[in-house]
Amino acid sequence: MKNRLLLFCDGYTSPLQGVTVPAFEQPQSIPFIVDRVRKDYAQFDIEVTNVNDPNDTRPTAIIAVGGGSATQGGSSFNGGFYNAFPNDGFVYATTLQNNPKWIADAISHEAGHLFGLTHQSQWANGVMVDVYRRDGAIMGSPYFIDNPFWTIGQTPTGATQDDVATLTRILGAASPPLPTPPPVMIRNDCQITITAPLTVQAGATFPATFTVKNTGSNVWLPWDGAKGYNLGAQQPQDNSRWGKVRLPLPITVVSDFGTSITASFTAPTIPGDYPFAWDMVEEFVSWFGKIASQTIRVTQNSGAIPVSINNVPGIWTPTGEL
Ligand SMILES: [Zn+2]
Repeated sequence: MKNRLLLFCDGYTSPLQGVTVPAFEQPQSIPFIVDRVRKDYAQFDIEVTNVNDPNDTRPTAIIAVGGGSATQGGSSFNGGFYNAFPNDGFVYATTLQNNPKWIADAISHEAGHLFGLTHQSQWANGVMVDVYRRDGAIMGSPYFIDNPFWTIGQTPTGATQDDVATLTRILGAASPPLPTPPPVMIRNDCQITITAPLTVQAGATFPATFTVKNTGSNVWLPWDGAKGYNLGAQQPQDNSRWGKVRLPLPITVVSDFGTSITASFTAPTIPGDYPFAWDMVEEFVSWFGKIASQTIRVTQNSGAIPVSINNVPGIWTPTGEL
C-alpha cells in the first residue's frame, strides 16, 4: 500500500502544532479501533497502523489519540496530508468518553479532513439546516449508527462532495487481491501404499498389495508391450530381488483415481533386512512420484536348504550353522 495512516495512542507531540497529546487511557481498545478504521479505509490504497516504523517513507497522515477537549471530539487541517498544513490531527478520547467505536469514527472523520474532505451537511430546500449530517455519514456525525459510511452529499458551502471519489483521487484505490493461480498439476505423479509382511522366511513366497493413486494429469495406460505405465522395482532400480521387476496395472487409471495391485513375491534366499521398494514408471519416459519402500526382514528358513552369507566350501555344517 502506497500511503499510511499512522495512529499514535501512547502519547504524541506535534512537531508542527506544538501540541502534546497524552497517552490513550484504554490501550486494550486499540486493536478494535485500528480494525474499525481499517474497515473504513479498506477500499483505498492506504495502510492503517498504530506501529510506527521510523524508516517508513510513504506519504503519511497522523492521528494522535488521547486527552480531551472542552468542545471537540477531534481536530485536523483540511488537506494536511498533501498541502502545507500539518499532516497530523487529534482525536480527544476522553471527550468521546473513551468509547472505542466513537474514537474509531472520529479517527476516520479527522483523517478524512486530512485527505481533503470537508463535512457532509444537512440541506433542506436550499438551506443548510445542520453542518453535520446525522444519518451516519463519516464526514457528518458518524457516532450513532453501527456502520458509518462515505457518501455523496452537500458540503457546508452547498458544493457536492463525493467522499469515495475524493479519497480515491488522493489515495488511490486498494489493489484488488491477486488472482489465485490454478494449482499446477504435473503430468506424472503418484501416491503408493504397500501392504506387505514385515518378516518372511528366506526363499518363501508371499503376497503383497499396493494401492497406487494417479495424482498427476496424465492417463495411465497399462503397458502394451511398447509403451505404458507399470509399477517397477526400486532400491536399486529394476532389481529382481523379490522375483519381479515390473507389476502391470490391471486397468487404465485416470487422474485423481487409483487402483490396487496384488502380486506374489519370492523372498531372497539369504537372510537379512532388505528394502521392498516400488515406484511408478512411464516406460521409456521416466520414473515419477515418491518411491514407496518398506524393509522386510528375511529370516532363516528352518526347514529348507541351508544358506550362508559366508558360503565358503568346507566350513559349514549340514544344518547350515557355521
Ligand atoms: Zn470535522
